[in-house]
Amino acid sequence: MEGGIPRAAAEELDAADPLAGFRDRFVITDPELIYLDGNSLGRLPAATPDRLREVVEEGWGEGLVRSWQGWIDWGARLGDRLAEHVLGARPGEVVISDSTSVNLYKLAGAALDAAPGRGTVLMDAEDFPTDRYILQGLTAQRGLRLRRLASGLDGGLDLDVLRSALDQDVALVVLSLVSYRSGALLDMAKVNELARAAGARVLWDLSHAAGAVPVDLAATGAELAVGCTYKYLNGGPGSPAFLYVREESQAELRQPVWGWFGQREQFRMGPDYDPVPGIERFLVSTPPLLSLAAIDPALALVEEAGMARIRAKGLLLGRLVDDLADAWLAPLGFRPASPRPPERRGSHVSLYHRDAWRICQTLAADAKVVCDYRVPDRLRIGPSPLYTRFTEIWDALARLRQVAAGRAYASRPTGLARVT
Ligand SMILES: *Cc1c(COP(=O)(O)O)cnc(C)c1O
Repeated sequence: MEGGIPRAAAEELDAADPLAGFRDRFVITDPELIYLDGNSLGRLPAATPDRLREVVEEGWGEGLVRSWQGWIDWGARLGDRLAEHVLGARPGEVVISDSTSVNLYKLAGAALDAAPGRGTVLMDAEDFPTDRYILQGLTAQRGLRLRRLASGLDGGLDLDVLRSALDQDVALVVLSLVSYRSGALLDMAKVNELARAAGARVLWDLSHAAGAVPVDLAATGAELAVGCTYKYLNGGPGSPAFLYVREESQAELRQPVWGWFGQREQFRMGPDYDPVPGIERFLVSTPPLLSLAAIDPALALVEEAGMARIRAKGLLLGRLVDDLADAWLAPLGFRPASPRPPERRGSHVSLYHRDAWRICQTLAADAKVVCDYRVPDRLRIGPSPLYTRFTEIWDALARLRQVAAGRAYASRPTGLARVT
């Protein structure tokens, strides 16, 4: 294709890619399909089906209830691995449980209960919907004030806006490290420092960050965090989420869902709730074992590749998206809807186009490119460094250019699907 960057440049990047071999460790049934939605649901690791078969047939089928002896602490063991390789936390500070929404509720509730004299929660007005709804519910239930900070759809939250909203009434600040729509990346250390100076806690949502950007919860002084395992961590649809509570804060915080998995000497079945002092006090109930099991082989791939190499490739993939978008797509009504350069965002990139939804549908139906659409008019392109090739980015943007130029998308319905 004429103009911009020759395909050979993408081929060279693939040839020099130290992570290129990881693509074969995923199930790829249709090599022509370009999958750029790893930020919504990561691909299936090739080792996962066998691992699940083993857990189902041996653990469940043969072992039956006896298998719980080994299963009982999988959430904590996987949490320790995630802490070490992905989150920059210490052993005993991360555990896998429940969903991101539920973990957000638990940790935000714990933080609010620990700050009885303060009445305000701050959040980004453009944060992911579940975060907004959970915090609306929590603050309404407790008669607190939720302040939604205005932030840029494309550029993310300006820290000056946060700085001027922080006062002695703020109990909690809830923010996503990487914005789900624009990919804007916040400065975790800086936010933690600003909040601490005002006596407020920070709860981070790492859903679009974990497995995409290196996170160092310990070094940045983070206290609370939650996030998904089914996006860049490839744990599978609905795989349980993680939560992090800094060790020094664990005994002091008590979460609002008092389940038996947080209980001291759980199987003594004592009369009153008396949670363990450690991270497991933030657990509630029996884990979804099969989904938990799927996180193990997925995490092994991230551990082997290492977050530094994953980020390095993510930046190069992002730069290629930027360069091709400028060369090919800007003349067709697209404009960047993410911060630049790629160092200022997570792994995904958004592009504005007034017909983004119809273009997105046409790309999937006619051109075998799966990316996603986010309201109101954004096309979200989510390369995942473990399995996305540079040539796939080149091919996907060439197909996108063709779809946008051909205007075949104009015949598609404008009404949104049940899932976008
Ligand atoms: C994906 C995502 C979630 C998902 O929450 P679930 O409870 O798993 O449905 C939550 N928050 C953010 C910021 C996300 O990106």
